[in-house]
Amino acid sequence: MKVSHIEHIGIAVTSIDEAIPYWENVLGLKCYNIEEVADQKVKTAFFMVGQTKIELLESTSPDGSIAKFIDKNNGKGGVHHLAFAVDGIEDALADAESKNVQLIDKTPRAGAEGLTIAFLHPKSTMGVLTELCEDKNKNCK
Ligand code: ZN
Repeated sequence: MKVSHIEHIGIAVTSIDEAIPYWENVLGLKCYNIEEVADQKVKTAFFMVGQTKIELLESTSPDGSIAKFIDKNNGKGGVHHLAFAVDGIEDALADAESKNVQLIDKTPRAGAEGLTIAFLHPKSTMGVLTELCEDKNKNCK
């Protein structure tokens, strides 16, 4: 597959409202988008750092994957996943599968920020939950 850059770093938080002041007041970044992704049971907040985003993730449901992550992490947030920008996400997934990587998403789906996304299983990625992203609208912007 062809990875162009780190698209974003996903960080689980217990509360986006409580987390934003750290990112804005200490690091001097500006939150430019807050978006709920209903099928992933998360509310997200985004900051731009160079060409990479920080994605804060707050669970909107106690049975969501972010809620489970925070439960396992003694009630605290932390780094949740790394997301790589790829060209041709379908081919990238097929490539990963052909190299015996376990896929969480067999087919790409819609993520936040209008991206097409798919997750690779941390069992196959040295414990790092890995997301592949493609901006299929980038040529229209
Ligand atoms: Zn993500």
